[in-house]
This record gives sequence, structure tokens and C-alpha cells, in this order.
Amino acid sequence: MSTVLVVEDEAAIAELIALNLRHAGYDVTLAATAEQARACVDAALPDIVLLDWMLPGQSGLALARHWRGAARTRDLPIIMLTARAGEADKIAGLDAGADDYLVKPFSTNELLARIRALLRRKAPQALDAAVEAGALRLDPATRRVTAAAPRGALEIKLGPTEFRLLHFLMTHPERVHSRAQLLDHVWGDHVFIEERTVDVHVKRLREALEPAQCAAMIETVRGAGYRLTGQAARTLVQTPD
Ligand code: CA
Repeated sequence: MSTVLVVEDEAAIAELIALNLRHAGYDVTLAATAEQARACVDAALPDIVLLDWMLPGQSGLALARHWRGAARTRDLPIIMLTARAGEADKIAGLDAGADDYLVKPFSTNELLARIRALLRRKAPQALDAAVEAGALRLDPATRRVTAAAPRGALEIKLGPTEFRLLHFLMTHPERVHSRAQLLDHVWGDHVFIEERTVDVHVKRLREALEPAQCAAMIETVRGAGYRLTGQAARTLVQTPD
């Protein structure tokens, strides 16, 4: 059961959120102030925090920044809840380290969808185990990707999105993933992102893998999506002398 810390000073809203989350199977803890929330997190790390922006005393924004600055809570998944809808406020919230942003009033279904998406997005990254597929090795702990090559391992430089995409594909190999599924798992929240964004990042990923002759591992499955295969022959070994 995933644990959710709800930081909200308005009791009626807090209770409503808690009721809906418990109904959906989450283990919910409530905190009415930043101070209470810090004590809760110090006691036990929740799987996700719903953080109201406007709190008495320290603001939710300052609290998010505080958690992001501490090693133990650096990766704590945070969704900001707020009545502020301006673009500058959204940017401030995301800059402070929130993973996502929900403007009040929001529907319970949207809140639950955002929570599920964020938990899925964070889950593979929480696993620090290195993964291998074909000639590729990806180590989440060091954020390094290498490809086995005749003269030692070749390092592959990837942007953060391509890294997450490759990590997801490598932990779910030989299966076809639709663009919508990839957005859901890799981006976490595809409400504002178009499906063609996936194609752009797949193209970049292939370009990064090309020097190691591993681009063919990312297969396009027409009308369905993408698949990573460890079986793709590398042109490196196929090319006759
Ligand atoms: Ca409030």
C-alpha cells in the first residue's frame, strides 16, 4: 500500500482528499502545517506528498525547496496543490522542486491519475540496480550508460529524458509500448504533452546509440509503438571485412 502525506491547512479539504485516497487504497497521513509535515517526513518517508502552497507559517513552496535540498528527501515525489493558476506560479512551484502541480478545484479522478502517474514515474528510478540488454548496460546509481565494444566499454551520453526512456525500455524489454504508455511511464503526466514528443526523444536516443551501433535495438512497431530488443544484431559485428 502506498503512503501519502497530505499537507493542507484547510481541514475540510484535507478530510475530503484523505477520504478519497483511503477509498482508493492509499495509506494517508494528514499534516496541517509545514512543521507537522516535516515531523511526519522525519519519522517516515511517505511514497508521495500532496503539498498545499498556502500554509500558515512556512509556505508549501518553501517546504518543497527545503525537502529538495536535503539528501534524504531529494527524490521525494511532490505534487503541489494550489488555488494559484498563473503561469508564473506554476513555474515557481516546479522550480521549487514539485514534480507536478494541481490547481484547485481539481477532480478526485485527476488527483488519483496524477498520483498513479507520479508513483510509476518515480518507481523505476528508485531502483538503483544496473540493467543490461544486448550490448548495453545502464547504471541508475551513476547515471552511466555503456555499450560493450571490442576495445572496452563505450560510454553513451544521454539527456535526462532519453536516459529515463532507455531505462524504462531496458527494464521492460521485448515488449511493445504505445506512445501513450511511454508518456505515462517515462514522462509521468501526459496531459500537456503530445504523443509526437515520444518520437522526438526516440530519435535522439537512437542518435546517441548510433556510435555504439546499438540504435537498431530500439525498434519501431508500425501502428503500435516502440520496443527494445536485446536481440538486434549490431552492424559492428555484421559488417564483413
Ligand atoms: Ca491552504
